[in-house]
Order: sequence, then C-alpha cells, then structure tokens
Amino acid sequence: MTRPRILVVGAGFAGVGCVKRLERRLTEREARITLLSPFSYQLYLPLLPQVAAGVLTPQSVALSLRRSQKHRTRIVPGGAVGVDTAAKAVVVRTITGEYDVEPYDHLVLAPGSVTRTFDIPGLADHARGMKTLAEAVYVRDHVIAQLDLADASEDEAERAARLQFVVVGGGYAGTETAACLQLLTHNAVKRYPRLDPALIKWHLVDIAPRLMPELGDKLGSAAMDILTARGIQVSLGVSVASVDDEAVTLTDGRVLPCRTLIWTAGVAASPLVGTVGTETLRGRLVATPEMRVPGVDGVWALGDAAAVPDLAKGEEGAICPPTAQHAMRQGKALADNLVATLRGEPTHPYTHKDLGLVVDLGGMDGVSKPLGVELHGPAAQAVARGYHWAALRTNVAKTRVMTNWLLNAVAGDDYVRTGFLASKAGTLRDFEYTDAYLTPDQVRLHTGPFRGAVG
Ligand SMILES: Cc1cc2nc3c(=O)[nH]c(=O)nc-3n(C[C@H](O)[C@H](O)[C@H](O)COP(=O)(O)OP(=O)(O)OC[C@H]3O[C@@H](n4cnc5c(N)ncnc54)[C@H](O)[C@@H]3O)c2cc1C
Repeated sequence: MTRPRILVVGAGFAGVGCVKRLERRLTEREARITLLSPFSYQLYLPLLPQVAAGVLTPQSVALSLRRSQKHRTRIVPGGAVGVDTAAKAVVVRTITGEYDVEPYDHLVLAPGSVTRTFDIPGLADHARGMKTLAEAVYVRDHVIAQLDLADASEDEAERAARLQFVVVGGGYAGTETAACLQLLTHNAVKRYPRLDPALIKWHLVDIAPRLMPELGDKLGSAAMDILTARGIQVSLGVSVASVDDEAVTLTDGRVLPCRTLIWTAGVAASPLVGTVGTETLRGRLVATPEMRVPGVDGVWALGDAAAVPDLAKGEEGAICPPTAQHAMRQGKALADNLVATLRGEPTHPYTHKDLGLVVDLGGMDGVSKPLGVELHGPAAQAVARGYHWAALRTNVAKTRVMTNWLLNAVAGDDYVRTGFLASKAGTLRDFEYTDAYLTPDQVRLHTGPFRGAVG
C-alpha cells in the first residue's frame, strides 16, 4: 500500500506546529510529509518591530526549519499559487520561478495572512508593511536613510518632510512598530549633530476610537500615555485619504509632508484562500471545529488563513482571532486530528481559552494583560519579553534573542543601513507576493494531468 501524502502549505506558527507534531506521532511508514515554504525558516512575527528597531538581528527571529536532528519532512522551497481540490493537487511556484504540481491525499492549508489594504489613492505604491522579515529590514533601512538624507540636505522643507513618519494601525503590530521606531530615531539623532531633534515627528493613526481595543480601556489609555509622553502624535478616528511621493493626506484634511508611510492596518487571509473555491468568512477559509474544510475531501485549514470556530468564547459564530497563540495550538490539534483520521480514530474539536496579550513598546515600556491581569510599564515589558522568549521554538533562537537584548541594552545600536534591499520599490506587493496567485483556469492548466488520477 502507498503511504498517504500529507502536504502542509506554510511554515509559520500553524504549519510548523502541525509538522512537528506529525513527525513526532507518525512513523515513516504511516505517511509521507511534505512542507511547502518559500523560506527556510519560521518567522517569529511578534518580534518583528524589534528587528526594524535594530534591537534584534533578523537571524534571531528566523527559526531554521532544519535544525532538529529528528527532522524528516521533505521541504519544497516555493509557494502555493493555486489549489485544485478536484485534482487533489497544489500548483507550486518554486523559488526559481518555475511551476510544479504537488499531489496530496491530505492538504493542510496554513499560509497565514497578508497586510490588509484599502482602495486609497497611492497606497499600493507608497505603503510599507511590517509582515515579513524583508519588510522589517527594509523599513529599518528606509528610516535610517531618511536621517542620512535629511542630514545631508540644505533644504529645510525636505529635512522636515524626511523626518516626519506616519504609521497607520493602532492594533498591537502598529503600536509596537511606532513605539519601537520612534525610539530608534530618538536615539539615532544623537549621532547627527546637524539635525534638530525637534524636527522628528511620529504619527500613529487609526480609524478606530481606541488603541488596541482588545486590551480594554485602562491599558489602551496607558499605551496612549506612554506614546504621547514620547512625543508620538496619536490620531484616532482618522485614516489616510491619499498618499504620494511627497505627503500623506489624512481624512481630517491634514496634509503631512513625509516620505514614510508604514501600513499595519490589520491583516487579510492569504490570497491562496481565494483559489480553493470553498466558503469563506471575513476572507478566511471556513473550517469546522476539527479544522476540516467542509465540502472537500482531505483539506484542512488553520491559523490566520482560516475561520476556526472559537468554542472557548461560547458565543454563537465567534471565530478564533488571528494570533500566534491560536495558530501554534491549532497546528498541534490539527495534527492530532489528522493522525486520528489516518488511524480511523475519532477527531476532537479545537478549543483554547485566550491567554491575553503582551505588547512591548521598547525601552522599558509595555502594556500586557496576561490571564486578565492588567500591567503597564517595566513589569508589562518584562512579561512581554518573557512570554516571547519562552515561546521561541529552539534553544539557539532563545540564546540569540537574549544575547541581542543584552547587547542592545549595554551597547545600543549603530544605526547602520545595510542597503541590501535598496533597489526594491518596497511595496506590499513586492514583499508579500500578493500578485503571484493563479486564476482557476490557470490552476487547471497545470493540474489537468492529475484530475484523471483521482478516483
Ligand atoms: C508585527 C506583528 C506582531 C504580532 N504580535 C503578536 C503577538 O504579540 N501575539 C500573537 O499571538 N500574535 C501576534 N501577531 C500575529 C501572529 O504573528 C499571527 O497570528 C501568526 O503568525 C499566524 O500564524 P500562521 O501560521 O497562520 O501564519 P504565519 O505565521 O504568518 O505563517 C504563514 C507562513 O506561510 C508562508 N506562506 C505564505 N503564503 C504561502 C504560500 N502561498 N505558499 C506557501 N507558504 C506560504 C509564509 O511565508 C509563512 O511562513 C503579530 C503579527 C505581526 C505582523
């Protein structure tokens, strides 16, 4: 008998959590596991703002997929660009740009999410994201480049524009990004004696009336106080009307001359979801509590890409929020259900009670709500760092992160611009490959030969 083929798409919190559990629970003879991933690492996204700020090196949040000695999964370096559930096959674009097809018996969809955008003039060309390692490195270089260019410029208006920065998104990603990058410029400007520190202006903008509403009123206000004490101008109930090379125009009519718009206004499920052809909810693939995709054989979905019912919430229609906390636990639970299915045993619904949120605002600041306990200041930051440190999957990553934190606390940053990505436009499209996906007809052109093989 041939071994069932399990194909896992995406090596994030969900995909890696699932593969590790499958490797542990299944013998070589029980199944053939393949992991499809454009990168050779699992990205620890919650620490990305600290990479942009230079507190952590990029390598310290990129956890190798191949470090474990027990690792035996076949890793295909590429991205899924279309799913054909009738052919039970996935179209892959490899990292060399060629197309290939991976057949499956069980497909686990964990491609995560991309930055959510809106139809705002100029956004597609001028917004920079904070969702991939390349984006964090790019944003860091870009911000330092603005200091370098402002320092060299003799034009006062240009100086002021280059030293004005706009971050959109008052969720935890945007708030952490604004807080960490403001600290970067605040500290870096001391190395630019020609620059007037008063010219540096950071704006955090959100259409919602509160910052990080999931933290509640008290902690939202505490975060607001920390940001405003640092000089960050927080504008709530406001969004971006348009953006171009020279300025960001806000919906309240203000025109902010600037060269930097960092866009962290939420996430949308990976465009791969749209190629599956099954029901979606708020853009995420509808999944059962066991994480099966209804109506198609052998397809499972989880993480940011899936709408998995949040049974612990006890509210009709509630779905799990797109967080790492859920994604990694869903990965393990889904693997258990897949193993049970292969062995003809019963499966179990996923349930997890939210443990809360931790937010590191850089320096000694943070706001956290672990298990409902509200904290702010250094205690909150210690909890945030402790939580992330413990959640890092490998000991080498833990060591790298801890060493980086200590080194940064003692020696600070050198504000070096690497220039590796200087030739890229730096758009969301560039870094998040949102235009790589195929139409159903294009998918079928690749998977045609596999259709007859499914019986
Ligand atoms: C700045 C920031 C801070 C955050 N902070 C927190 C936090 O403090 N706590 C928390 O719980 N959550 C946090 N999150 C959210 C959390 O990171 C996500 O919810 C989590 O990463 C989702 O896990 P996932 O496995 O579904 O997706 P991801 O971890 O994003 O993994 C998806 C993987 O799939 C790959 N992929 C994408 N498309 C394809 C494709 N077509 N084919 C193959 N592979 C593909 C990607 O390269 C990636 O490796 C934060 C997110 C950001 C951006």
